[in-house]
Amino acid sequence: MSKVVVLGGGVSGLTSALCLLAQFKDTIEELTVLASEYPGDYHAPDYTSPWAGANWCSFVRDGDKLQIQRDKLTYDVLLQLADREQSCGVKKYCLKTFMSRNSAVPWYIKDGFVKGLKELSNEEVKSRKLDPSQVRGFEFTTVSINPTRYNNYLISQIVKAGGAVRRVKRLDTIDQVVDVMGYVPSLVVNCTGVNAGKLLREVDPNEQDRVYPVKGHILQIYEDLPYQVIIEDLPKEDNALPNQFLNVFPRPEGGCIVGGLAAKGDYSKDIDPELSSSILRVMKRHIPELSTATVYNSYVAFRPGRKGGVRIDFSEYPLAKHVSTLKVVHNYGIGGSGYQSSYGIAMEVCGYAERAFLQRPKCPFKL
Ligand SMILES: Cc1cc2nc3c(=O)[nH]c(=O)nc-3n(C[C@H](O)[C@H](O)[C@H](O)COP(=O)(O)OP(=O)(O)OC[C@H]3O[C@@H](n4cnc5c(N)ncnc54)[C@H](O)[C@@H]3O)c2cc1C
Repeated sequence: MSKVVVLGGGVSGLTSALCLLAQFKDTIEELTVLASEYPGDYHAPDYTSPWAGANWCSFVRDGDKLQIQRDKLTYDVLLQLADREQSCGVKKYCLKTFMSRNSAVPWYIKDGFVKGLKELSNEEVKSRKLDPSQVRGFEFTTVSINPTRYNNYLISQIVKAGGAVRRVKRLDTIDQVVDVMGYVPSLVVNCTGVNAGKLLREVDPNEQDRVYPVKGHILQIYEDLPYQVIIEDLPKEDNALPNQFLNVFPRPEGGCIVGGLAAKGDYSKDIDPELSSSILRVMKRHIPELSTATVYNSYVAFRPGRKGGVRIDFSEYPLAKHVSTLKVVHNYGIGGSGYQSSYGIAMEVCGYAERAFLQRPKCPFKL
């Protein structure tokens, strides 16, 4: 029987914990989620999960088959959750997305993967103050997620499945898991987001340079919208700021979050008032339905970026005070896709866990 520690209480850690408990009922004797921050905590902008939009709109543009599989699986699960679990904070919405005619059509549209897919008329593109000779629009079914409600739902499912949840001070190095738990776990799943590089600096020094923040900037408004809107490439007339785009996601409980910004490597916690007014002005121009919207909150937060993309792999680190090693499956650095890839990635974590439990030489998991 195995004792597992999942380090991290964000969507990556919680989804991994839940899938491990479901897949290894007979193998896992004890599973503990260990983290400094949990849903309901808003003091740490480097705890990303509470601050997400959050919707499903896959970012894969370069044919990365593995990432497409992760996003596909997660789309199906999130849609099922929206149908089955009314109170989990996931709700179906139609997304209207507008993109330059010069950009490649995303895989989920080209392959007809998403449900309710339809190209928008030139009239609708024009009604959004976009030029149909430059821009095309599509709509399809996706979800909006209220992060705090959803992550608390995940915790309730973990506890129901026999897992435990425990808060700790920020660990300085990953081997401190052993001191905190008082034993060497059979497996640690490392889901520490944008802090992962620092946590691994002694055992995996290159990771410190690989992990970086991607700053986001969000306004919250009271008003509702019956659909989501994304405009990826803002027209010149918007006079938008660098790295600015528009996304408006209604939340299941009402009101919308309005973004946004994706600024790589920017760790500043300040809310830029110029960017806030630009986001609001651009939203009102393209979404006249929200022309009298009232902002009740603004915030910045850091997506966990990583050079080379998310790290899902297995490491074995020596432990100074023990004869055994620390077996670790990593799941960090997912950037702006933590929710929309969560189940696909968690299933992959399960594949690596199987290798750790059974001592097999190769990862048996195939998506
Ligand atoms: C503005 C914005 C909008 C977004 N919109 C979307 C969206 O629409 N769709 C989508 O899919 N994603 C979206 N994201 C991205 C998504 O929020 C992230 O990908 C996701 O939250 C990352 O989750 P995580 O669990 O990997 O990391 P985190 O949520 O940061 O969790 C890390 C956990 O590790 C713990 N931890 C870290 N270091 C230590 C340590 N040393 N010791 C102990 N505990 C530690 C923390 O306490 C925390 O519990 C958005 C993000 C932002 C900022």
